[in-house]
Amino acid sequence: MGKVTIATDWLAACAGCHMSLLDIDERIVGLMDLVTFTSSPITDLKHPPDAGVTVGILTGAISNTHNIEVAERMRRCCKILIALGDCAVFGGIVATRNMVGTEAALKRAYIDSESTLEGLIPDCPELGTPLEQVTGVGEIVKVDFFIPGCPPRADAIYFALSELLAGRIPVVLPAEHFKYD
Ligand code: SF4
Repeated sequence: MGKVTIATDWLAACAGCHMSLLDIDERIVGLMDLVTFTSSPITDLKHPPDAGVTVGILTGAISNTHNIEVAERMRRCCKILIALGDCAVFGGIVATRNMVGTEAALKRAYIDSESTLEGLIPDCPELGTPLEQVTGVGEIVKVDFFIPGCPPRADAIYFALSELLAGRIPVVLPAEHFKYD
């Protein structure tokens, strides 16, 4: 049997969820016997290959139109889609923007911040257009597994991938993976 292919990508996210993925540490060596990571934000190839992958992992919230494009591309390219981390699951910290509204949040960050003189709100097509409401990935595309946490514990990510690779679906995360310090 060939290796299972996995692609990861990120939306409106910090790097914390991908760092937690790397925190699997030496277990990742054993994982590499079973899987091939085709692309990720931390590899040369950033986006999933056109040929598709078995598992797609998205971190981060849906905050702008570019995020929607990335989420839809990953959904098209993978058989099983995992939303990794609170931002991907329900909007997480990014969704706090919803409490004040997008326009006010952008103004506060880029114009009114105490350290800003003559600020400008970024306006570049490559960045996409900010949405009025930040959401989790599942509001835009079908998600097969949700792994919460900010970031999710490395043990939870390893457990979920191991269960998937063993064909034990649906994956049920034990309660111990929901304890946060
Ligand atoms: S869930 Fe937390 S660690 Fe992951 S991208 Fe969001 S803020 Fe960063």
